[in-house]
Amino acid sequence: MVSQSSGLYDGIILGAGHNSLVLQAYLGKAGPKILCLEPRDVAGGALTTIEDPRHPGFLHNTHSFFHRGLNQMPWYRDLELERHGAVYLEPEFNVALILKSGEVLEWWKSFEKTAESFACFSLRDAKALRQWRERFLPIVERILIPESQSPPIPLDRRRALLEKCAEGRLLLEVSALSSLEFVQKEFEHPVVQAALLFFNGLREVDLRCKGLGHHIPSLLASDRKAQMCRGGSAGLARALVAAVQESGGEIELQAKPRRILVENGRVSGVEIDSGDVFRARRFVASGLNPQQTFLNLLDETWVPREWREKAQNFRYNLIAPLFTLNLNLSEPPDYRAAANHPRLKDAFMVILGLERFEQFPEIVRCHGAGTIPPTVMWGSCPTQFDPSQAPPRKHTAFMWEKLPYHLHGSPAHWSDEKEPHGQTMLELWTEYAPNMRESVLDWFVRTPLDTERTFPNMREGDLLVGAFMHGQIGYHRPFPGAGHYRGHLPGLYLCGSSCHPGGNIAGLAGYNSAQVVLADLHLPAPWAPPPAEASLQRI
Ligand SMILES: Cc1cc2nc3c(=O)[nH]c(=O)nc-3n(C[C@H](O)[C@H](O)[C@H](O)COP(=O)(O)OP(=O)(O)OC[C@H]3O[C@@H](n4cnc5c(N)ncnc54)[C@H](O)[C@@H]3O)c2cc1C
Repeated sequence: MVSQSSGLYDGIILGAGHNSLVLQAYLGKAGPKILCLEPRDVAGGALTTIEDPRHPGFLHNTHSFFHRGLNQMPWYRDLELERHGAVYLEPEFNVALILKSGEVLEWWKSFEKTAESFACFSLRDAKALRQWRERFLPIVERILIPESQSPPIPLDRRRALLEKCAEGRLLLEVSALSSLEFVQKEFEHPVVQAALLFFNGLREVDLRCKGLGHHIPSLLASDRKAQMCRGGSAGLARALVAAVQESGGEIELQAKPRRILVENGRVSGVEIDSGDVFRARRFVASGLNPQQTFLNLLDETWVPREWREKAQNFRYNLIAPLFTLNLNLSEPPDYRAAANHPRLKDAFMVILGLERFEQFPEIVRCHGAGTIPPTVMWGSCPTQFDPSQAPPRKHTAFMWEKLPYHLHGSPAHWSDEKEPHGQTMLELWTEYAPNMRESVLDWFVRTPLDTERTFPNMREGDLLVGAFMHGQIGYHRPFPGAGHYRGHLPGLYLCGSSCHPGGNIAGLAGYNSAQVVLADLHLPAPWAPPPAEASLQRI
């Protein structure tokens, strides 16, 4: 294919995930003309809501659904996403862990109600919950939130600053532990321990990993609860696209980048698979993973060996990716446990199959061995909160389970195993909600391999786009030397979830990279918070 010039821009962004769109909207507001290139036929990355092709009107959020504290994000406010159509719902009864016995551990927006529920299991644990929340409130507000919303600072410098104040010293002390050690040390009841590990551990952070022990008390102190976007997760994507377009930005769909062009040692544009070339006067920013950016898209001669090796070694899936079961229903799940807990019908996120703390080592062992552990799953019935996601009087629901990508040694095994496993999940769900025997109209599953095929940046289906582990967090995410959103070549930037503070629908990688790119372009960013270093110095 002969290359042909298709346009001249100030900057080009690769991949239209939400981080890229956040970056593009901020840059566009500051003046530069920016193009985003996206291989799919829709922008927003894993902000996906699809209509079931076999059943019109049934919408499914096949990737992200629970968006934590989304409407408290600074970019949500700055980019006026409500004016652009986004509406967020945050159900009061936020999370329910339903036990086989019919008992329910409840997690409410109100801390008092949550503590009341924990006290039904252990008075001592309810007290510990309150103590850790109080101890961590200032740490979350004054350290962790400012750090997540600014480019990270070098680790030595960070430690030195933290050691100067009491909150910082407590944070360092607790972070030295793993989540597992923290929970075992501070809480006694096996159900409480399991719930706490689940809330952060099973979903995001490897519970065995030392250095991440602060995640659980941070969660206890955070007011950011699970939320959903009305109309489906794609509603947020549509609002972001509207913000980008209002700022003069362009998004080219069905445009797969083939090469990042380099001239005179500086990035100068992008060639896509059709052969079209888009020129970038000032920068190219990649919302992709390090292997895609440094190994696939850049000619080898432009990438120093050290960078190639670090990109090659960027790791995924320290904890397993997600398998999802998606249902069309004639009525919402009616949990047996609701007989004694009538409020259960209002629960937003429901966890099933988790009974006690000791299940975790077995789950982790199975993930390591590439086998399917006894099911622990969580999900929701979105239409109970937003009827627009199904035809009148009908419902959709889903459950997720962490399952290995390399099933029995290869992801290819998923093609035979996916339907039987979906059936297993459905049977378990029906044990808790017997009305599902009659109410399921149809269902489908998606495997970690499907995730990777849809979003190749989520290598091996890794929804965080790179594991949270030493050498891959903070100033070292994605790897030492690349932790400040700048690549090794002038004009090359990173903005996706492989950067600090990492994956999930938080948009902060895009938000932080906008601060770096605008500073390098000598353009104002009046919305930018004080640098992390200044925030830590002020404590
Ligand atoms: C099943 C599942 C459930 C999830 N649930 C939640 C949840 O409830 N809450 C939550 O917060 N997070 C959830 N996540 C994680 C979250 O969706 C991701 O962490 C987040 O979407 C990453 O955002 P991003 O902006 O970095 O990129 P992405 O959303 O991954 O978007 C990347 C974009 O780049 C494009 N792309 C890929 N390869 C190329 C290429 N070679 N060239 C150009 N473009 C390319 C893709 O098409 C995509 O549009 C879930 C993920 C999955 C898979």
